[in-house]
Amino acid sequence: MRSVEEHLAGILSAVPLLPPLDLALLEAQGGVLAEPVEAPVPLPPFDNSAMDGYAVVAADVAEATESDPVALPVIGDIAAGDVGVSAIRPGLSARIMTGAPVPAGADAVIPVEWTDGGTATVRVTRPVPPGHYIRRSGEDVEAGKVVVEAGTRLGAAQLGMIAAVGRSRVPVRPRPRVVVLSTGTELREPGTPLAAGQIWDSNSFMLTAAVNETGAKGYREATVGDEPAEVLESIEDQLARADALITSGGVSMGARDVVKEVFTAKAGESVVFSKVAMRPGKPQGFGLLNGTPIFTLPGNPVSAFVSFQVFVRPALHAMQGLPPEPLPTWPAVLTEDVTSPAGLRHFVRGRLAPRRGAYEVTPAETQGSHQLWSLSSADCLIVLPEDVEALPAGTQVQVMRLPS
Ligand code: AMP
Ligand code: MG
Repeated sequence: MRSVEEHLAGILSAVPLLPPLDLALLEAQGGVLAEPVEAPVPLPPFDNSAMDGYAVVAADVAEATESDPVALPVIGDIAAGDVGVSAIRPGLSARIMTGAPVPAGADAVIPVEWTDGGTATVRVTRPVPPGHYIRRSGEDVEAGKVVVEAGTRLGAAQLGMIAAVGRSRVPVRPRPRVVVLSTGTELREPGTPLAAGQIWDSNSFMLTAAVNETGAKGYREATVGDEPAEVLESIEDQLARADALITSGGVSMGARDVVKEVFTAKAGESVVFSKVAMRPGKPQGFGLLNGTPIFTLPGNPVSAFVSFQVFVRPALHAMQGLPPEPLPTWPAVLTEDVTSPAGLRHFVRGRLAPRRGAYEVTPAETQGSHQLWSLSSADCLIVLPEDVEALPAGTQVQVMRLPS
Protein backbone atom coordinates (compact mmCIF):
# COMPACT_ATOMS: atom_id res chain seq x y z
CA MET A 1 0.00 0.00 0.00
CA ARG A 2 1.15 3.56 -0.73
CA SER A 3 1.00 6.36 1.77
CA VAL A 4 -1.17 9.41 1.07
CA GLU A 5 2.03 11.45 0.62
CA GLU A 6 3.52 9.00 -1.87
CA HIS A 7 0.38 8.96 -3.99
CA LEU A 8 0.06 12.75 -3.92
CA ALA A 9 3.75 13.25 -4.73
CA GLY A 10 3.40 10.94 -7.77
CA ILE A 11 0.44 12.98 -9.01
CA LEU A 12 2.11 16.35 -8.44
CA SER A 13 5.27 15.31 -10.24
CA ALA A 14 3.23 14.20 -13.28
CA VAL A 15 0.59 16.90 -13.79
CA PRO A 16 1.52 19.45 -16.47
CA LEU A 17 1.67 23.19 -15.89
CA LEU A 18 -0.92 24.78 -18.19
CA PRO A 19 0.66 27.15 -20.73
CA PRO A 20 -0.26 30.83 -20.35
CA LEU A 21 -2.79 32.46 -22.68
CA ASP A 22 -3.08 36.15 -23.48
CA LEU A 23 -6.62 36.99 -22.31
CA ALA A 24 -8.89 40.03 -22.09
CA LEU A 25 -9.43 41.05 -18.48
CA LEU A 26 -12.83 39.49 -17.87
CA GLU A 27 -11.78 36.28 -19.56
CA ALA A 28 -8.79 36.20 -17.23
CA GLN A 29 -10.95 36.04 -14.09
CA GLY A 30 -9.93 33.05 -11.98
CA GLY A 31 -6.78 32.62 -14.05
CA VAL A 32 -3.34 32.80 -12.49
CA LEU A 33 -1.13 35.64 -13.67
CA ALA A 34 1.92 34.31 -15.51
CA GLU A 35 3.99 37.52 -15.54
CA PRO A 36 4.02 40.47 -13.14
CA VAL A 37 1.95 43.53 -14.06
CA GLU A 38 3.67 46.89 -13.54
CA ALA A 39 2.22 50.38 -13.41
CA PRO A 40 3.49 52.38 -16.43
CA VAL A 41 2.48 55.67 -14.76
CA PRO A 42 1.88 56.78 -11.18
CA LEU A 43 -1.61 56.38 -9.65
CA PRO A 44 -3.31 58.71 -9.30
CA PRO A 45 -1.70 60.07 -12.48
CA PHE A 46 -2.18 63.71 -11.31
CA ASP A 47 -2.90 65.59 -8.06
CA ASN A 48 -6.68 65.65 -7.65
CA SER A 49 -9.37 66.63 -5.21
CA ALA A 50 -10.53 64.15 -2.56
CA MET A 51 -13.77 66.11 -1.97
CA ASP A 52 -16.37 68.29 -3.62
CA GLY A 53 -15.34 71.79 -2.50
CA TYR A 54 -13.05 74.69 -3.36
CA ALA A 55 -9.41 74.73 -4.43
CA VAL A 56 -7.66 77.50 -2.48
CA VAL A 57 -4.32 78.73 -1.17
CA ALA A 58 -4.33 77.50 2.43
CA ALA A 59 -2.67 80.69 3.74
CA ASP A 60 -5.64 82.73 2.43
CA VAL A 61 -8.08 81.01 4.81
CA ALA A 62 -5.79 80.66 7.84
CA GLU A 63 -7.93 83.14 9.85
CA ALA A 64 -11.37 81.81 8.79
CA THR A 65 -13.93 81.14 11.55
CA GLU A 66 -17.70 80.53 11.77
CA SER A 67 -18.28 84.07 13.01
CA ASP A 68 -15.72 85.71 10.70
CA PRO A 69 -15.58 83.79 7.39
CA VAL A 70 -13.03 84.57 4.68
CA ALA A 71 -14.65 85.51 1.34
CA LEU A 72 -12.88 84.48 -1.89
CA PRO A 73 -13.94 85.08 -5.50
CA VAL A 74 -14.72 81.84 -7.39
CA ILE A 75 -13.11 81.97 -10.83
CA GLY A 76 -14.69 78.81 -12.27
CA ASP A 77 -15.64 75.17 -11.89
CA ILE A 78 -13.42 72.10 -12.36
CA ALA A 79 -15.27 68.80 -12.84
CA ALA A 80 -13.65 65.36 -12.88
CA GLY A 81 -12.34 64.81 -16.38
CA ASP A 82 -11.87 68.44 -17.32
CA VAL A 83 -9.34 71.19 -16.73
CA GLY A 84 -11.75 74.14 -16.61
CA VAL A 85 -9.36 76.16 -14.49
CA SER A 86 -5.73 75.20 -14.84
CA ALA A 87 -4.30 77.65 -12.25
CA ILE A 88 -5.32 80.07 -9.51
CA ARG A 89 -3.55 82.98 -7.89
CA PRO A 90 -3.55 83.82 -4.15
CA GLY A 91 -6.79 85.48 -3.07
CA LEU A 92 -8.87 83.41 -5.53
CA SER A 93 -10.62 80.03 -5.47
CA ALA A 94 -12.12 77.52 -7.91
CA ARG A 95 -15.07 75.20 -7.28
CA ILE A 96 -13.76 71.65 -7.65
CA MET A 97 -15.33 68.17 -7.74
CA THR A 98 -13.96 64.88 -6.40
CA GLY A 99 -11.35 63.46 -8.80
CA ALA A 100 -10.83 66.74 -10.71
CA PRO A 101 -7.24 67.96 -11.21
CA VAL A 102 -6.10 70.47 -8.60
CA PRO A 103 -5.20 73.73 -10.41
CA ALA A 104 -1.63 74.97 -10.25
CA GLY A 105 -1.17 77.47 -7.43
CA ALA A 106 -3.80 75.86 -5.14
CA ASP A 107 -2.43 73.89 -2.20
CA ALA A 108 -5.61 72.75 -0.42
CA VAL A 109 -9.23 71.84 -0.97
CA ILE A 110 -11.95 73.13 1.37
CA PRO A 111 -14.88 70.71 1.53
CA VAL A 112 -18.16 72.34 0.52
CA GLU A 113 -19.55 71.65 4.03
CA TRP A 114 -17.08 74.23 5.47
CA THR A 115 -18.39 76.99 3.20
CA ASP A 116 -21.63 78.68 2.22
CA GLY A 117 -21.47 76.92 -1.18
CA GLY A 118 -21.24 80.25 -3.06
CA THR A 119 -20.77 80.27 -6.84
CA ALA A 120 -19.48 83.82 -7.48
CA THR A 121 -17.95 84.34 -4.05
CA VAL A 122 -17.47 81.64 -1.43
CA ARG A 123 -17.38 82.21 2.33
CA VAL A 124 -15.03 79.81 4.09
CA THR A 125 -15.69 79.14 7.78
CA ARG A 126 -12.71 76.97 8.75
CA PRO A 127 -8.95 77.03 8.04
CA VAL A 128 -7.19 74.05 6.46
CA PRO A 129 -3.55 72.98 6.49
CA PRO A 130 -1.68 72.94 3.14
CA GLY A 131 -2.25 69.68 1.29
CA HIS A 132 -5.68 69.17 2.82
CA TYR A 133 -7.98 66.89 0.74
CA ILE A 134 -5.52 66.66 -2.14
CA ARG A 135 -4.81 63.16 -3.41
CA ARG A 136 -1.21 63.32 -4.59
CA SER A 137 0.02 61.78 -7.81
CA GLY A 138 1.69 58.44 -7.00
CA GLU A 139 0.31 58.15 -3.46
CA ASP A 140 -1.49 54.92 -4.42
CA VAL A 141 1.10 53.41 -6.77
CA GLU A 142 4.43 54.77 -7.97
CA ALA A 143 5.36 54.39 -11.64
CA GLY A 144 7.17 51.10 -12.24
CA LYS A 145 5.73 49.32 -9.21
CA VAL A 146 4.59 45.70 -9.63
CA VAL A 147 0.90 45.92 -8.77
CA VAL A 148 0.04 42.22 -9.20
CA GLU A 149 2.72 39.55 -8.81
CA ALA A 150 3.06 36.54 -11.11
CA GLY A 151 1.40 33.51 -9.51
CA THR A 152 -1.60 35.48 -8.21
CA ARG A 153 -5.09 34.19 -8.90
CA LEU A 154 -7.03 37.03 -10.49
CA GLY A 155 -10.13 37.99 -8.53
CA ALA A 156 -12.21 41.15 -8.67
CA ALA A 157 -9.75 43.41 -6.84
CA GLN A 158 -6.74 42.25 -8.89
CA LEU A 159 -8.61 42.72 -12.18
CA GLY A 160 -9.61 46.22 -11.05
CA MET A 161 -5.98 47.00 -10.25
CA ILE A 162 -4.79 45.76 -13.65
CA ALA A 163 -7.42 47.87 -15.44
CA ALA A 164 -6.45 50.89 -13.31
CA VAL A 165 -2.89 50.73 -14.68
CA GLY A 166 -4.26 50.72 -18.23
CA ARG A 167 -3.83 47.08 -19.25
CA SER A 168 -6.56 45.42 -21.31
CA ARG A 169 -5.01 41.94 -21.65
CA VAL A 170 -2.84 39.76 -19.44
CA PRO A 171 -0.95 36.46 -19.74
CA VAL A 172 -2.66 33.96 -17.44
CA ARG A 173 -2.70 30.26 -16.84
CA PRO A 174 -6.42 29.66 -17.40
CA ARG A 175 -8.78 27.76 -15.12
CA PRO A 176 -8.27 24.07 -15.95
CA ARG A 177 -11.24 22.51 -17.80
CA VAL A 178 -12.05 19.35 -15.90
CA VAL A 179 -14.49 16.77 -17.27
CA VAL A 180 -16.27 14.57 -14.73
CA LEU A 181 -17.65 11.18 -15.72
CA SER A 182 -19.56 8.74 -13.51
CA THR A 183 -19.53 5.05 -14.36
CA GLY A 184 -22.11 2.55 -13.17
CA THR A 185 -24.91 0.61 -14.84
CA GLU A 186 -27.04 1.21 -11.73
CA LEU A 187 -26.92 5.01 -12.12
CA ARG A 188 -29.87 7.12 -13.22
CA GLU A 189 -30.23 10.85 -13.77
CA PRO A 190 -31.82 12.72 -10.86
CA GLY A 191 -35.30 13.75 -11.99
CA THR A 192 -35.98 10.40 -13.65
CA PRO A 193 -37.63 7.38 -11.97
CA LEU A 194 -35.66 4.50 -10.48
CA ALA A 195 -36.23 0.85 -11.29
CA ALA A 196 -35.22 -1.97 -8.94
CA GLY A 197 -31.53 -1.94 -8.11
CA GLN A 198 -30.93 1.58 -9.40
CA ILE A 199 -29.75 4.76 -7.64
CA TRP A 200 -29.48 8.37 -8.71
CA ASP A 201 -26.03 9.55 -9.78
CA SER A 202 -24.74 11.92 -7.14
CA ASN A 203 -20.96 11.76 -7.65
CA SER A 204 -20.79 13.59 -10.95
CA PHE A 205 -22.72 16.55 -9.55
CA MET A 206 -20.69 16.58 -6.35
CA LEU A 207 -17.34 16.29 -8.13
CA THR A 208 -18.18 18.89 -10.79
CA ALA A 209 -19.16 21.29 -8.02
CA ALA A 210 -15.98 20.41 -6.12
CA VAL A 211 -13.93 21.21 -9.24
CA ASN A 212 -15.61 24.62 -9.42
CA GLU A 213 -14.88 25.20 -5.73
CA THR A 214 -11.16 24.88 -6.41
CA GLY A 215 -11.33 27.65 -9.02
CA ALA A 216 -11.14 25.26 -11.99
CA LYS A 217 -14.04 24.77 -14.45
CA GLY A 218 -16.04 21.57 -14.10
CA TYR A 219 -17.95 19.93 -16.95
CA ARG A 220 -20.30 17.10 -16.10
CA GLU A 221 -20.65 14.32 -18.65
CA ALA A 222 -23.62 11.95 -18.89
CA THR A 223 -23.05 8.78 -16.85
CA VAL A 224 -21.93 5.63 -18.65
CA GLY A 225 -22.77 2.02 -17.84
CA ASP A 226 -20.18 -0.59 -16.94
CA GLU A 227 -19.35 -1.43 -20.55
CA PRO A 228 -15.62 -1.09 -21.31
CA ALA A 229 -16.14 0.01 -24.92
CA GLU A 230 -18.64 2.68 -23.86
CA VAL A 231 -16.42 3.96 -21.07
CA LEU A 232 -13.36 4.12 -23.30
CA GLU A 233 -15.26 5.92 -26.04
CA SER A 234 -16.63 8.47 -23.62
CA ILE A 235 -13.18 9.13 -22.13
CA GLU A 236 -11.56 9.46 -25.54
CA ASP A 237 -14.30 11.86 -26.70
CA GLN A 238 -13.63 14.12 -23.75
CA LEU A 239 -9.85 14.20 -24.07
CA ALA A 240 -9.98 16.82 -26.81
CA ARG A 241 -11.63 19.43 -24.63
CA ALA A 242 -10.32 18.50 -21.18
CA ASP A 243 -7.25 19.69 -19.30
CA ALA A 244 -7.99 16.90 -16.80
CA LEU A 245 -10.50 14.07 -16.42
CA ILE A 246 -12.12 12.61 -13.33
CA THR A 247 -14.00 9.32 -13.34
CA SER A 248 -15.92 7.81 -10.45
CA GLY A 249 -16.53 4.14 -9.84
CA GLY A 250 -15.16 0.93 -11.27
CA VAL A 251 -11.75 0.87 -9.64
CA SER A 252 -12.03 -1.55 -6.70
CA MET A 253 -11.83 -5.33 -6.52
CA GLY A 254 -15.19 -6.34 -7.96
CA ALA A 255 -15.85 -8.58 -10.93
CA ARG A 256 -16.99 -5.66 -13.08
CA ASP A 257 -14.64 -2.80 -12.30
CA VAL A 258 -14.91 -1.21 -15.66
CA VAL A 259 -12.45 1.67 -15.41
CA LYS A 260 -9.73 -0.62 -14.19
CA GLU A 261 -10.57 -3.08 -16.92
CA VAL A 262 -10.36 -0.47 -19.66
CA PHE A 263 -6.92 0.77 -18.72
CA THR A 264 -5.47 -2.55 -17.71
CA ALA A 265 -6.43 -3.93 -21.13
CA LYS A 266 -5.02 -0.97 -23.01
CA ALA A 267 -1.34 -1.65 -23.30
CA GLY A 268 0.90 1.37 -23.20
CA GLU A 269 -1.46 3.48 -21.14
CA SER A 270 0.07 4.91 -18.03
CA VAL A 271 -2.93 4.79 -15.68
CA VAL A 272 -1.77 3.10 -12.51
CA PHE A 273 -4.17 1.66 -9.94
CA SER A 274 -3.02 1.63 -6.34
CA LYS A 275 -4.18 1.06 -2.84
CA VAL A 276 -3.58 4.10 -0.70
CA ALA A 277 -3.37 3.83 3.08
CA MET A 278 -6.41 5.94 3.83
CA ARG A 279 -10.06 5.62 4.78
CA PRO A 280 -12.24 6.35 2.99
CA GLY A 281 -10.68 6.24 -0.48
CA LYS A 282 -8.36 3.27 -0.54
CA PRO A 283 -8.63 2.33 -4.27
CA GLN A 284 -7.11 5.09 -6.40
CA GLY A 285 -5.96 5.41 -9.95
CA PHE A 286 -4.04 8.13 -11.74
CA GLY A 287 -2.25 8.54 -15.03
CA LEU A 288 -1.77 10.61 -18.15
CA LEU A 289 -3.68 9.99 -21.39
CA ASN A 290 -1.76 11.72 -24.19
CA GLY A 291 -0.49 14.08 -21.51
CA THR A 292 -3.91 14.77 -19.95
CA PRO A 293 -4.18 13.78 -16.29
CA ILE A 294 -6.94 11.33 -15.41
CA PHE A 295 -8.00 10.71 -11.82
CA THR A 296 -10.01 7.51 -11.43
CA LEU A 297 -11.75 7.92 -8.09
CA PRO A 298 -13.65 5.24 -6.18
CA GLY A 299 -17.44 5.12 -6.55
CA ASN A 300 -18.63 5.37 -2.99
CA PRO A 301 -19.64 9.01 -2.70
CA VAL A 302 -17.71 9.89 0.44
CA SER A 303 -14.62 8.07 -0.86
CA ALA A 304 -14.85 10.03 -4.10
CA PHE A 305 -15.23 13.31 -2.24
CA VAL A 306 -12.36 12.75 0.18
CA SER A 307 -10.10 11.52 -2.65
CA PHE A 308 -10.93 14.66 -4.58
CA GLN A 309 -10.01 16.96 -1.70
CA VAL A 310 -6.81 15.10 -0.84
CA PHE A 311 -5.42 14.46 -4.35
CA VAL A 312 -7.30 16.28 -7.10
CA ARG A 313 -7.59 19.69 -5.50
CA PRO A 314 -3.82 20.16 -5.00
CA ALA A 315 -3.19 18.82 -8.51
CA LEU A 316 -5.59 21.33 -10.13
CA HIS A 317 -3.85 24.13 -8.26
CA ALA A 318 -0.44 22.89 -9.40
CA MET A 319 -1.63 22.87 -13.04
CA GLN A 320 -2.30 26.59 -12.73
CA GLY A 321 1.03 27.32 -11.06
CA LEU A 322 -0.44 27.76 -7.59
CA PRO A 323 1.03 26.10 -4.49
CA PRO A 324 -0.57 22.63 -4.23
CA GLU A 325 -1.84 23.25 -0.75
CA PRO A 326 -4.37 21.00 0.96
CA LEU A 327 -7.58 22.38 2.42
CA PRO A 328 -6.89 24.74 5.31
CA THR A 329 -6.18 22.74 8.46
CA TRP A 330 -6.46 23.86 12.04
CA PRO A 331 -6.54 22.43 15.55
CA ALA A 332 -9.73 21.47 17.37
CA VAL A 333 -10.51 19.52 20.53
CA LEU A 334 -12.47 16.26 20.27
CA THR A 335 -15.80 16.23 22.14
CA GLU A 336 -15.99 12.42 21.93
CA ASP A 337 -13.70 9.39 21.93
CA VAL A 338 -12.70 8.19 18.46
CA THR A 339 -11.22 4.99 17.09
CA SER A 340 -9.25 4.61 13.90
CA PRO A 341 -7.89 1.73 11.80
CA ALA A 342 -4.19 1.09 12.40
CA GLY A 343 -2.00 1.94 9.43
CA LEU A 344 -4.55 4.07 7.58
CA ARG A 345 -4.98 7.82 7.59
CA HIS A 346 -8.56 8.29 8.66
CA PHE A 347 -10.66 11.21 7.44
CA VAL A 348 -13.58 11.46 9.85
CA ARG A 349 -16.56 13.66 9.04
CA GLY A 350 -17.19 16.17 11.82
CA ARG A 351 -18.75 19.43 12.86
CA LEU A 352 -16.87 22.32 14.37
CA ALA A 353 -18.16 24.62 17.08
CA PRO A 354 -16.38 27.63 18.56
CA ARG A 355 -15.57 27.32 22.22
CA ARG A 356 -13.57 29.76 24.36
CA GLY A 357 -11.65 31.27 21.48
CA ALA A 358 -10.83 27.85 19.96
CA TYR A 359 -12.77 25.07 18.24
CA GLU A 360 -14.18 21.79 19.37
CA VAL A 361 -15.14 19.09 16.92
CA THR A 362 -17.80 16.40 17.10
CA PRO A 363 -17.48 13.35 14.82
CA ALA A 364 -20.56 12.42 12.79
CA GLU A 365 -22.36 9.34 14.07
CA THR A 366 -22.16 7.47 10.77
CA GLN A 367 -18.90 7.13 8.89
CA GLY A 368 -19.69 4.60 6.14
CA SER A 369 -18.28 5.62 2.75
CA HIS A 370 -21.78 5.35 1.22
CA GLN A 371 -23.33 7.58 3.89
CA LEU A 372 -23.48 10.90 2.12
CA TRP A 373 -25.72 12.68 4.60
CA SER A 374 -23.04 12.65 7.28
CA LEU A 375 -20.81 14.42 4.74
CA SER A 376 -23.39 16.93 3.57
CA SER A 377 -24.06 17.88 7.19
CA ALA A 378 -20.35 18.02 8.12
CA ASP A 379 -18.13 21.07 7.87
CA CYS A 380 -14.74 19.43 8.34
CA LEU A 381 -12.74 16.23 8.09
CA ILE A 382 -10.91 15.22 11.24
CA VAL A 383 -7.52 13.88 10.13
CA LEU A 384 -6.41 10.96 12.30
CA PRO A 385 -2.81 9.92 11.52
CA GLU A 386 -1.84 6.38 10.52
CA ASP A 387 -0.43 5.49 13.95
CA VAL A 388 -3.59 6.45 15.85
CA GLU A 389 -5.94 3.67 16.93
CA ALA A 390 -7.94 5.49 19.59
CA LEU A 391 -8.10 8.99 21.04
CA PRO A 392 -10.09 10.08 24.09
CA ALA A 393 -12.41 13.09 24.18
CA GLY A 394 -10.43 16.22 25.03
CA THR A 395 -7.54 15.41 22.68
CA GLN A 396 -6.46 18.09 20.25
CA VAL A 397 -6.64 16.93 16.62
CA GLN A 398 -6.16 18.55 13.21
CA VAL A 399 -9.23 19.18 11.07
CA MET A 400 -9.52 20.06 7.39
CA ARG A 401 -12.13 22.73 6.86
CA LEU A 402 -14.45 21.83 3.98
CA PRO A 403 -15.17 24.50 1.38
CA SER A 404 -18.56 26.12 1.99
P1 AMP B 1 -17.89 1.14 -7.55
O1 AMP B 1 -16.64 1.83 -7.12
O2 AMP B 1 -18.26 1.44 -8.96
O3 AMP B 1 -17.85 -0.30 -7.24
O4 AMP B 1 -19.06 1.76 -6.67
C1 AMP B 1 -19.03 1.63 -5.28
C2 AMP B 1 -20.36 2.08 -4.70
O5 AMP B 1 -20.57 3.44 -5.01
C3 AMP B 1 -21.55 1.32 -5.27
O6 AMP B 1 -22.48 1.17 -4.22
C4 AMP B 1 -22.09 2.28 -6.30
O7 AMP B 1 -23.47 2.09 -6.56
C5 AMP B 1 -21.82 3.61 -5.69
N1 AMP B 1 -21.64 4.62 -6.73
C6 AMP B 1 -20.81 4.51 -7.77
N2 AMP B 1 -20.90 5.59 -8.57
C7 AMP B 1 -21.82 6.40 -8.01
C8 AMP B 1 -22.35 7.67 -8.37
N3 AMP B 1 -21.95 8.30 -9.46
N4 AMP B 1 -23.29 8.22 -7.57
C9 AMP B 1 -23.69 7.56 -6.45
N5 AMP B 1 -23.21 6.38 -6.06
C10 AMP B 1 -22.30 5.78 -6.82
MG1 MG C 1 -19.55 0.83 -10.30
